[in-house]
Amino acid sequence: MAGQMQYGGQAPNGQPIYILGEGSQRTKGRDAQSNNIMAGKAVANAVRSTLGPIGMDKMLVDSMGDVVITNDGATILKEMDIEHPAAKMIVEVAKTQDDEVGDGTTSATVIAGELLKKAEELLDDGVHPTIIASGYRNAADKAAEYINEIAVDVSPDDTETLKKIASTAITGKGGEEYKDTLAQLSVDAVKAVSEKTESGTSVDTDEIKIEKHAGGSMRDSELINGVVIDKERLHTNMPKKVENAKVLLLSAPIEFQKTEMDAEIKITSPDQMQQFLDQEEKMIKDMVDKIINSGADVVFCQKGIDDMAQHYLQKEGIFALRRVKQSDMDRLAKATGANIVQDVDEISESDLGSAGNVEEKDVSGTKMTYVTDCESQKSVSVILHGGTEHVVDSLEIALNDALRVVGVAVEDGKVVVGGGASEVELAMKLYNYAASLEGREQLAAHKFAEALDIIPQTLAENAGLDAIDKLVELRSQHEKGNKYAGLDVRNGEIVNMWEDDVIEPLRIKTQAINAATEAAVMILRIDDVVATSEKSGGGEEAAMGGGMGGMPMGM
Ligand code: ADP
Ligand code: MG
Repeated sequence: MAGQMQYGGQAPNGQPIYILGEGSQRTKGRDAQSNNIMAGKAVANAVRSTLGPIGMDKMLVDSMGDVVITNDGATILKEMDIEHPAAKMIVEVAKTQDDEVGDGTTSATVIAGELLKKAEELLDDGVHPTIIASGYRNAADKAAEYINEIAVDVSPDDTETLKKIASTAITGKGGEEYKDTLAQLSVDAVKAVSEKTESGTSVDTDEIKIEKHAGGSMRDSELINGVVIDKERLHTNMPKKVENAKVLLLSAPIEFQKTEMDAEIKITSPDQMQQFLDQEEKMIKDMVDKIINSGADVVFCQKGIDDMAQHYLQKEGIFALRRVKQSDMDRLAKATGANIVQDVDEISESDLGSAGNVEEKDVSGTKMTYVTDCESQKSVSVILHGGTEHVVDSLEIALNDALRVVGVAVEDGKVVVGGGASEVELAMKLYNYAASLEGREQLAAHKFAEALDIIPQTLAENAGLDAIDKLVELRSQHEKGNKYAGLDVRNGEIVNMWEDDVIEPLRIKTQAINAATEAAVMILRIDDVVATSEKSGGGEEAAMGGGMGGMPMGM
């Protein structure tokens, strides 16, 4: 490969000076750019065919032979073993998108790839990368401005629109047949945890607990105001139901504490043995007494509770669960107002929380503990039913996506339409903006606008339609002022996306455009790749700017 050489120069006496270690690789200038652009585009191509509600699925097989079938951009890129550093930057776009919005990962990746592709055309025409970078950045700022103009307000009480947002996110994912139920559940759950703050509304979807349950019908899935724990009470003699419960949360075990050191206790007579056991029993009894004295009648213990302790607790009519997950402990603390106590010796009445009802219930064959009517109404759980393990898993993914987009829409209060409508409208406005610029800046802004067309084009392609025809039709509608005209992928018609109920939170689009632009610009600005070689024998493939690492090309 051309352009690879050791970093260094020439001493006055003509001797070459090497400043990099042996095996280090360097790629410079246009070669470095081309390699990086190629790698970035390859990542985008890898997920492109999955875009849209009728995009294809990918089957990913890991080194252990485990199979994942998905059409979720972030999941695909996570599972793929991508090594090329520029490719990784594009993967990062999908990751950020997933963290920030929870949806739109494929779109963000595809836009990033297209921005790189268009940049390459500009480079070929002799436009300097710095000009492209600043042109792209300015265009992205304009795009943010324009998309805010076409966004529409949505109220947190507008259940109908919020449900459409949830449905749009779920369409094409597993669980589509249960779209309505999932949409309703997600809107109810988000409403339950949304909080008014000084600056608006905040939604933390982590507060919504999804309790999966294989068996039963999806339609029996329900939203519970409170915390549901997938555990049954420790002892059948414990009460099944405690009303107005005083709840103790304990992160320490209720067990005889073995010493840290390897102590050896020599027992020489049966008496001594008995003494030893008595002492152990007394220790446990003391621990349980401390719990009883605090006034607690429900105990959730994060660690173990041994048989003897169970016996004493049960005798006192205390409801207890052991080995409760940390995440559940945190939710219980929030819901009941209890403090998580770390040491049995430190339990005090003021640490206890309260719940109107703690009850073990039989949910189609599995016993679970419901903690409801809590002090704080902000804790909710969704019991998700599905025929098989595999079905509930995919329902959970769909529900998670729905929760995120509805949460984002409630937080921001702004939505846009999908189906390529927003991208075409944006592109049209950006073409006008570009025309107002001069020289090479204009070229960059124009290419940026073109790059956004990749969304409607890909949606059409993946639906087996003619991408160019559809793009032309879309543009002509938008030029007539139909700013919500998008592609109905099911019948190939151009329709008003509000009527088609394809609605997305504004943040999906702004985040995707920003992250894609940042990544593309970062990659473009690199014109020198220096890689120290760690792997011997990797040759060019192992070097930065070299091959594609572990990523298959041409997908
Ligand atoms: P992403 O990972 O980007 O969310 P998706 O596979 O979920 O990828 O596809 C999202 C794209 O599909 C968006 O552009 C969205 O507007 C579009 N879309 C979703 N539902 C429909 C629909 N019913 N008709 C047309 N386009 C749709
Ligand atoms: Mg999506």
